Amino acid sequence: LQSYVGFDSITSQIEKKLLKRGFQFNVMVVGQSGLGKSTLINTIFASHLIDSKGRIQPDEASRQTVEIHSFTEAIVENGVKLRLNIVDTPGYGDQVNNENCWEPIIKYIKDQHSSFLRKELTAMRDRFIQDTRIHCCLFFISPTGHSLKPIDIVVLKKLTEVVNVVPVIAKSDSLTIEERIAFKHRIKEEMKFHNINLYPYASDEDDEQDSALNDSIQDLIPFAVVGSEKTIVVDGKTVRGRQNRWGVINVENENHCEFIHLRNFLTRTHLQDLIETTAMIHYETFRSKQLLALKE
Ligand code: GDP
Ligand code: MG
Repeated sequence: LQSYVGFDSITSQIEKKLLKRGFQFNVMVVGQSGLGKSTLINTIFASHLIDSKGRIQPDEASRQTVEIHSFTEAIVENGVKLRLNIVDTPGYGDQVNNENCWEPIIKYIKDQHSSFLRKELTAMRDRFIQDTRIHCCLFFISPTGHSLKPIDIVVLKKLTEVVNVVPVIAKSDSLTIEERIAFKHRIKEEMKFHNINLYPYASDEDDEQDSALNDSIQDLIPFAVVGSEKTIVVDGKTVRGRQNRWGVINVENENHCEFIHLRNFLTRTHLQDLIETTAMIHYETFRSKQLLALKE
């Protein structure tokens, strides 16, 4: 005789616990200076970052990012608390000698893993550990319309070994739609040729729905984005956009660019998976290497 014991209430118990604790989401932006990294971050999280002290100031003269800089914002939507941590990095590849210019970035990512591991190994390991591990690295590609730069390939290789990398075509308003499609195609081929392993990764645990969602994302990557901190008026409506020599770009119009797709991907469809994948793949790889080294 089977009887109902009621453990199915575990889902609401988990939910309650998770909601109480909230979510920590850490995003890093990487790419050459002037590609619109700071602007895009402000555009994605605009309504939340305005007037906050962490907001990247739009003061052109003083805004160039000179060192790795992070700021945290707590966002609450419908009772769900999200602690968003943005890590802005200085443009790499701007020097005459670019040898090892990516090292501070890779070191920063590894340092977060290492500090998490240290806390995990201490006596009070059941206490809640503040997660500073980077869950997503947005990689900015210059909109040349030709191909990736050799330095980009080197940096992408290094990054994909330690973090979920999501490439974007920066300032895509500087390309026509046809140029953008051709460029995207070219970048995909180059990534494949150089065996650059981008997020999302295929997994045995994926059901049909997961694989379909991942396929549609893989199709879109690299997202062709446009950022803007300014609003413009289109047909009497105020929208976030840019005015250029061809006309007006509405950042949130999916016929104009893929900003909306990137934002949905980051904040709606893949937030939890980016966090989980970081813990289960990137952090685990780091952890097992470290623990093996300790044994030897
Ligand atoms: P960062 O150095 O990568 O952080 O770049 P910034 O965000 O500071 O932007 C550099 C300049 O590019 C600024 O003048 C921005 O207004 C401009 N910019 C940012 N995003 C875009 C974009 O999508 N399209 C165009 N045309 N210009 C942009
Ligand atoms: Mg910047």
